[in-house]
Amino acid sequence: MNDQTITGGCQCGAVRYSAESLGRASICHCRMCQKAFGSFFGPLVHAGGLKWTRGAPKHFQSSNKVKRGFCGECGTPQTYDYGTAEIANGTHDNPELAPPTIVVNPADKLSCFDKLHTLPVRKADAEPSIAEFMNDITSYQHPDHDTDHWPAAEKRPETEK
Ligand SMILES: [Zn+2]
Ligand SMILES: [Zn+2]
Repeated sequence: MNDQTITGGCQCGAVRYSAESLGRASICHCRMCQKAFGSFFGPLVHAGGLKWTRGAPKHFQSSNKVKRGFCGECGTPQTYDYGTAEIANGTHDNPELAPPTIVVNPADKLSCFDKLHTLPVRKADAEPSIAEFMNDITSYQHPDHDTDHWPAAEKRPETEK
């Protein structure tokens, strides 16, 4: 699909990976993907030459045939693993790399899904209190590139907002 180095990882940076290529990218509506991703669907992509470059995912055996990989520190979904591990598509450092090309398991699709694009959109400056909240946020999310050292745990405050 492309010849650039593909890297990604979880939100906290404890688990990082690289891949040599990306293949089929899907959106899966099955109930297990909804639950595993805590979302309306599971976005997954085939990855060739996948290597864990920092840490490794923990797993939950979600069925007799599949285990779900996730970061044991922050919980970010990472893989759908049936012997071959597909990658959670939003975890790439460049999430534009693999736009979905197919929808699978539509039987469990939530009734709201096909209407999402019709929802009203709140503009960024619509509510001053929210803009103020957003302006004052300091991110502890791992940046969208590899790092030699990532002291997220040291930077984290005692209590979260
Ligand atoms: Zn993590
Ligand atoms: Zn699924």
